[in-house]
Amino acid sequence: MTNPATDYSADQRLTPLKERITTSARRAGRKPGDIRLIAVSKTFGADAVEPFLAAGQRIYGENRVQEAADKWPALRQRYLDVELHLVGQLQSNKVEDAVSLFDVIHSLDRASLAEALAKAMAKLNRRVPCFIQVNVGEEPQKGGVPLSELGSLLALTKKLDIPVVGLMAVPPVNLEPAPFFALLRKLAVRHGLDRLSMGMSGDFEAAIEQGATDIRVGSALFGAR
Ligand SMILES: *Cc1c(COP(=O)(O)O)cnc(C)c1O
Repeated sequence: MTNPATDYSADQRLTPLKERITTSARRAGRKPGDIRLIAVSKTFGADAVEPFLAAGQRIYGENRVQEAADKWPALRQRYLDVELHLVGQLQSNKVEDAVSLFDVIHSLDRASLAEALAKAMAKLNRRVPCFIQVNVGEEPQKGGVPLSELGSLLALTKKLDIPVVGLMAVPPVNLEPAPFFALLRKLAVRHGLDRLSMGMSGDFEAAIEQGATDIRVGSALFGAR
């Protein structure tokens, strides 16, 4: 893991970021309080995360189960109200660990994973809210359910009684993200889902204008990886 940068304080990063969130929310006629900031701390160790905890940031995102399992249990003993989100792809053999460690999972994107999650949630007696990740750019190398299969995956999650709270997407790099955010929003409305996990350091303002409720911001807080 990278060493913590020492040339900034957590407040110096959090305060302007929150101002930008407020500004974009107001521009879109939305309440800033309706947008959750998920601080994506992947690749940064506990030393880098701790100042953000001390500054009051409580929602964090990780993209690897193992890295989160190494980093977070000790931190959570001191900050009991941390909410931990899995934002990266989830392999079926890590599902039990993910269900016991995370409070929200953003990367449910296939039937086999839905089956495994339902089984793990039943076994551990723990219902973890999930986002369904959608491959909005139809990119072969990317995670996310194909647009044509979203309806059937949602039907399966209902049958399995998985708590699905919204949709998540990562638009293609190098393309204008707003149309992809708008598409995700349209899909969520069509399927009666409330939350939209979209927007990262480079495009969260556009995502907020298109209705994001959960933005996933890493480098704008912790620095370059
Ligand atoms: C790393 C990551 C982020 C954060 O990206 P930044 O550009 O550093 O803000 C958000 N979402 C996912 C799925 C990621 O893997």
